[in-house]
Amino acid sequence: MQLLFADQLGPHFDLGEEILLPVVKSQFSKRAYHRQKAHLILYALRARGVDKRVKLVELDSYRDLLADSRDITKLVNPTSYPFRRFAKEMSAEILPSRGFASSERDWDNYISSFKRLRLEDFYRQQRTRLGILMEGDGPVEGRWNFDSENRLSPPASGTGVKPPWFPKENEIDKSVREELDELERKGVRFIGVDGPRRFAGSREEALLALNWFIENRLDLFGPYEDAVDSREWSMSHSLLSAPMNLGLLDPIEVVRAAEKAYHEGKARIESVEAFVRQIIGWRDYVWHLYWHFGEDYVNSNALSADVPTPASFNSLDGSEIKANCLKQTIDSVSEYGWVHHIPRLMILGNHALQRGYNPRQMNDWFIDAFVDGTPWVMPANVIGMSLYADGGKMSTKPYAAGGSYLSKMTNYCGDCPLNPKVRVGENACPFTAGYWKFLDENQQLRSNHRMSNAFAGLKRLSDLEELREQESRRTSF
Ligand code: SF4
Repeated sequence: MQLLFADQLGPHFDLGEEILLPVVKSQFSKRAYHRQKAHLILYALRARGVDKRVKLVELDSYRDLLADSRDITKLVNPTSYPFRRFAKEMSAEILPSRGFASSERDWDNYISSFKRLRLEDFYRQQRTRLGILMEGDGPVEGRWNFDSENRLSPPASGTGVKPPWFPKENEIDKSVREELDELERKGVRFIGVDGPRRFAGSREEALLALNWFIENRLDLFGPYEDAVDSREWSMSHSLLSAPMNLGLLDPIEVVRAAEKAYHEGKARIESVEAFVRQIIGWRDYVWHLYWHFGEDYVNSNALSADVPTPASFNSLDGSEIKANCLKQTIDSVSEYGWVHHIPRLMILGNHALQRGYNPRQMNDWFIDAFVDGTPWVMPANVIGMSLYADGGKMSTKPYAAGGSYLSKMTNYCGDCPLNPKVRVGENACPFTAGYWKFLDENQQLRSNHRMSNAFAGLKRLSDLEELREQESRRTSF
C-alpha cells in the first residue's frame, strides 16, 4: 500500500497500488491558517478520497501511522525536513521526490557545472535539458529572456483579460465548510474570509483551470506580470500555483501546454517564456534551494530584524491601515488567500524589510496566509529574496523600494491620502520614508557595490534628521 501526503494528489504521484491518505486536522490548531487554505486542503483530500483505491483515514497526528505501518510499503519522498525524518522512521520504500521539473540529480549537475547560484543559469539548463521553447541548440526566436517587454505598468483602461477560471462549489465544499465551522466552535482560529473556493482542488478542476488559462489568459500574462491593478486582483496570472503545490498538476504538463499554445499562435513568446520561467525556472529553483541551504536557513536573520509581525497581518485586517497599497494588499490576502508576486515582494515583503519584521515570523505568516504557501516554497522567497535575512545568498542586494516604484507599477497611489514623492510631513509615504530609514539603519550594506547609488542618495538627504524623528514616532502606516 502506498502512503500519500496532502501535496501528492495527482496522477504523477500514483504508483497504481492501494493508497492510504491521512487527514490530520490537528495541523490547523498549531498556527492560524487562512480559512480558504484549510478549506482547499480538506477539499483536495476529500476529492481524492472518492477514488475506490484510496482509503482516507482521520488521524490525530501523522505519528499515529507509526504504531502500525506494516501495510505501508511505499511512499514518494515528502517535501519538508520534518516529514522526511518521519518517513525514515517507517519501514516503507522511499521513492525519489516528484512534482517538479527537475530531480535532485539535475540540481547536483547544475551546481557542479556552474558552482554559483544564479537563476538564469539554472533556467537555461532546464530549458535545454527538457527541450522546452528550443530550436536546435538555442532558444526559440533567438532569446532566452523577454523581461524587458514584460514590465508594463497597469493600463489606464484595464487589461481587458477574461476573468480566471473558478470552481463551482459542490457537496464536498459544503461538508468541508461544516467541518471547518466545527473546528472553529472547538476553538481553532482561522484568518481571512471564508470562500467561495477559487482554486482548483481536484485533478479534473486543475485540468479545467489549466486549459482556461492557456486559452484565455496566457497571451497577456507576460506584459502585465509585474503590474498591480486594484480592479483586477489576479491580473493575467494563472492561479495554478495552489493546485500545482497540492500535486494535482505536473509542472511539465503545464509548461508543455503553454509551449503548444505558442506554437499554435495562441500566445506571444514573451508571455509563454515568462510563464515557463516561473515554473521550470523559479519554482524548481526555490524547491532545490530549500534543501541546498539546509533546515536552519529559515532562522537566518542577517539584519537582526526583530519587530514582531503586526496585528494587521496576523488578523488580515487592513481597516486601520492608511497606506492604500498596503491596506488593499492585506485586504486581498484576506479575501482570496493570494496576491501575485509583486504585492508579495514589493508591498508586503518591502514593508516588512523596511520595518524590520522578524524573518522567521514573516516566513511562517506567508506559509499560513497564502493558499499556495508551503514550507519549501517560502524560505528562499521570504527569508532570502524579500527580507535579505540570509545576508545575500539569494539576492545580490535587498529588494527595498520607495513609493516611486509602487506609483509606477500599481494604481494604488491615486486613491491614497499619502504622497509617494513626500518623505517627511503629514502626507509622507511610509514606503518612501521607510526606504531611507532602512538604508540609514543598515549602514553595513554600504560595502555592497550595488547599493552605492542608494547610499549616495542617502548622504544627499537634507532632512534626514527630521525623517529619523518622524519614523521613530511612527505607530501606524
Ligand atoms: Fe502606497 Fe505610498 Fe502610494 Fe500610498 S502613496 S499607495 S503608501 S506607495
